[in-house]
Amino acid sequence: MEIVLNMVAFAFGAIFGSFYNVVIYRLPRKLSISKGTSFCPQCKHRIMPLELIPIVSFIFLRGKCAHCHTPISFRYPLIEFITGLTFMLSYLRFGLSYSTLVAMILASLCIIVAMIDFDTMEIYDRFNIMILLLALISMIGLSPLPLTDHIIGFFVISVPLYIIAIITNGIGGGDIKLMAVSGLLLGYQATLIAFFIGAILGGSMAIYLLVTKQTQMKSLIAFGPYLCVGIFTSYLYGLEIFNWYLNLFRI
Ligand SMILES: [Zn+2]
Repeated sequence: MEIVLNMVAFAFGAIFGSFYNVVIYRLPRKLSISKGTSFCPQCKHRIMPLELIPIVSFIFLRGKCAHCHTPISFRYPLIEFITGLTFMLSYLRFGLSYSTLVAMILASLCIIVAMIDFDTMEIYDRFNIMILLLALISMIGLSPLPLTDHIIGFFVISVPLYIIAIITNGIGGGDIKLMAVSGLLLGYQATLIAFFIGAILGGSMAIYLLVTKQTQMKSLIAFGPYLCVGIFTSYLYGLEIFNWYLNLFRI
């Protein structure tokens, strides 16, 4: 039974993921998300419902347009897969509960924010506002933490980042706002872990790019995607990691 529910959560996520692909593609191009069907960008062939089954269609079409056989980017099934995976992990962590729903919504926002930031180096305010709303709802009914932990979470990373941004001009305002609203959702303990994960991932990538001199891969420098991985991971396990870390120093 449990494995069936995990698979349902994955399938559910993959379906949402295919919608996020549309959002990620259309929002930066100022196209309507609700209107218009999907076309092959090469031959304008209208994509039929059967060609829209997440992941499965991509495999059956061997990653090509059914009409003109132009290769379809691998990132579409990848985003569907990642969304499915995050939904499944959310269910595995919290079971049938409101926290699972919050985790799935957070995963969705993180995936969209990460990919748009990766493409455009921008984090849209509207998504930060959605995380803010999610934080307010979750603080009222769901969180085991006291309110003050959430409020400290809002400032604990965003303020130092803001100061660094003023000094170095190297951090985007979107990253700062993202860490503020996510901090409110996570509480300060998990926020520290989220940022730590993001900094380790982003830092390793920056060093890798420097060493291999791949300066054309500039989009990999966007900090948002790494922060998003940290934020989602930390929503699931941040408190546990934080307590585990504190216990290392307890005699
Ligand atoms: Zn085509």
